[in-house]
Amino acid sequence: MLIDGTAAAAKVRAETAAGIAHLRSIGKPVHLVALLVGGTPAAELYAERQAEGCRKIGIDYTLLALPEDISNRELRQEVKRLSVDPTVTGIMLHMPLPHHIDVARVQYEIDVVKDVEGVSPANIGYVFYRRVVIAPCTAMAALELIDYAGVPVEGAEAVVVGASHIVGKPIAMMLLEKMATVSVCHIRTRDLKLHTKRADILVVAAGKAGLITADHVKPGACVIDVGINRVAQPDGTMKTVGDVAFDAVKEVAGHLTPIPGGVGPMTVAVLLRNTLRSAQILAGIA
Ligand code: NAD
Repeated sequence: MLIDGTAAAAKVRAETAAGIAHLRSIGKPVHLVALLVGGTPAAELYAERQAEGCRKIGIDYTLLALPEDISNRELRQEVKRLSVDPTVTGIMLHMPLPHHIDVARVQYEIDVVKDVEGVSPANIGYVFYRRVVIAPCTAMAALELIDYAGVPVEGAEAVVVGASHIVGKPIAMMLLEKMATVSVCHIRTRDLKLHTKRADILVVAAGKAGLITADHVKPGACVIDVGINRVAQPDGTMKTVGDVAFDAVKEVAGHLTPIPGGVGPMTVAVLLRNTLRSAQILAGIA
């Protein structure tokens, strides 16, 4: 059964739009500032699409384009300035940032409440204590889709492939908080299949196309594919695929997220919901 991320996201968006309209009606408009450092045409296109999505839902959106050679200090100062600007309710950083930028240190400067992507160390740390202020977007999206599919988490064997600070670890922690028995696999895991085969819930966030094949999956498992990979096709065109070999795994899994139309749209919807939540906290109503 395919998990329709687009439909699930639409529900989140509708609820979010209502909250945003309410804030505007009481004179507290939601204002997201996105920083784009030395953008490529693809990044600019993505930012433009995001701007459109925000405006449609009633969020005021400002794209702050900064030069490629901006120093770490200058970028951190820009983020600090936005963090204390009372007209700004949310801040996000378009990735990737240039190589010379220390991403974690820039994220550290984002005000905890305005951190709509949930990437500041504080927001990731709060997941540990189940006291979420602003949830890490992609991790939350994975959990939302498991919930949308109606798959019970409590007591389930859950396996997360990928252990990054922003994606894999928060997903594992959120599953643990929901009382799953969680294993986390990574690049040094000796026998990946041994672990994934046991999973009732398998979340894959490794960034490696085709990593998970049918024989990694327990029949009937819920498989959430977080990976995004651009791969060349025989005709020379590029295609976006996940980490899961979709055609083979859909024959074995009980639930599976497609790409496109799975985790991606839900991550965007969670980002918008977080943007609302930031503004609500700042307005003193959350
Ligand atoms: P990352 O490179 O920071 O971390 C990758 C993790 O996967 C590491 O822990 C690594 O040890 C593990 N890994 C890599 N190869 C592996 C292998 N062969 N076997 C087992 N483990 C392996 O990446 P990230 O930022 O966590 O992102 C992971 C994937 O999720 C990427 O494809 C990224 O594009 C995607 N992503 C998707 C969304 C979304 O909205 N759908 C959002 C963020 C990231």
